[in-house]
Amino acid sequence: MAEKTPAEVLGEQLLIHKEHAAVRCTDEQLAAADAFCEGYKSYLDTSKTEREAVTTTIALAEAADFTAFDKSKTYQPGDKVYFNNHGKSICLAVIGRQGTKNGVKIAAAHIDSPRLDLKPIPLYEANELALLKTHYYGGVKKYQWTALPLAMHGVVSKADGTCVEVKIGEDDQPGDPKFCVTDLLPHLAQEQMTKTLAAGIAGEDLNILVGSRPVCREKGENRFKLNVLKALNEKYGMVEGDLMSAEIEFVPSAKAADIGFDRSLIGSYGHDDRVCAYPSVMAALDCGTPESTVVVVLADKEEIGSVGNTGLNSNFLCDFIEDLADLDGMAVRDVMRRSECLSADVCAAYDPTYASAYEANNSCYVNYGVGVMKYTGSRGKGGSNDASAEYTGKVRRLFDKNNVQWQIGELGRIDLGGGGTVALYISGLGADVIDVGVPVLSMHAPYEVVAKTDVYMLYLGIKAFFEEA
Ligand code: MN
Ligand code: MN
Repeated sequence: MAEKTPAEVLGEQLLIHKEHAAVRCTDEQLAAADAFCEGYKSYLDTSKTEREAVTTTIALAEAADFTAFDKSKTYQPGDKVYFNNHGKSICLAVIGRQGTKNGVKIAAAHIDSPRLDLKPIPLYEANELALLKTHYYGGVKKYQWTALPLAMHGVVSKADGTCVEVKIGEDDQPGDPKFCVTDLLPHLAQEQMTKTLAAGIAGEDLNILVGSRPVCREKGENRFKLNVLKALNEKYGMVEGDLMSAEIEFVPSAKAADIGFDRSLIGSYGHDDRVCAYPSVMAALDCGTPESTVVVVLADKEEIGSVGNTGLNSNFLCDFIEDLADLDGMAVRDVMRRSECLSADVCAAYDPTYASAYEANNSCYVNYGVGVMKYTGSRGKGGSNDASAEYTGKVRRLFDKNNVQWQIGELGRIDLGGGGTVALYISGLGADVIDVGVPVLSMHAPYEVVAKTDVYMLYLGIKAFFEEA
């Protein structure tokens, strides 16, 4: 071996060292990451909407001895509870040896994703085609939602007061039809192709094709529309008016799949933010009896500003923690002031195809571990949480001590755009909060990509956070 130069020796001491997960991890660790992601892929396939994510999470939690929280009961260290918030967001807690006395450890992720929601009066026919009007939800590039197979998920509150769950078009329901938004053929798209990507497909163009045969041979009004309603009525007992009181989401019907010859990546709809929700839940399931009480919150409505009673800009998390604090005779404000939170949401993975959108030194990369974001936001950090040096340092040391691979970065080039997370709502309650998450390629597209090692590192990171005294 050649002797190291003085610069090499200094470099080892003074510089940041980054290593690809496949170089840094043992074969056993890589196999563990791959195995962990098999569970994650199943979670993705059964959790395409926030409601389904809550249902799937409760099933996982109950199988691990979690029970519905009951504030009239007393709980012991190691007891596991959950609080189902209107079926669209959920809190899990594992009671710690110290309870809430020294604050709680929170991991917060969200389970809503960009999609096409139906308008209240969606069904119409035009030139003998039956179509549904949609209103997109969250930040979407509209052109990405044409010409791909979609499935219909949701709930309908019917006139008789009953509520019916709707799910049509998934691969695990053989024989089901799928749906799609049509696009213009290139042969006739000369005008469309001169428009910007933002204008090429308009919001009112995102109409879902749902039928093309009339209900009867005789001429008459609404025959194509009626054929769709007849099918919905036969399957769900519903009528057109029931769609006024419904939450129907059209989402890509593809299942999660390995990507790449080496199967190192996962392609799926909805990684943002199930890729942080699943590791958070699994960390709570696997953390044993923690010192301080552990709380996982999976929130709804993050993609549209954390609004409503299932979003984190409401009191539901604080109220749940207050219920836990009451068990210990603690004031919730004292608990929150002493609490720490990992706001677990995805970050943008550096994409060499769009290199100019990033600043390479301050970007997160797939296969380089948990992406830590000290701040998010846009312009001069507007709308961000901006974690303190002290708390950032604490998380850094925690990850290093526990051999959790991590990196730090910004969303992308300054003033190119921006984005926020739930971090500011939780820090607003008094806790120390920092954003951590999995780097995603094609974020918010109908098909997003993550690296398996990063998913696993986030799990290890959150578990270490929960298990820390
Ligand atoms: Mn997100
Ligand atoms: Mn998002």
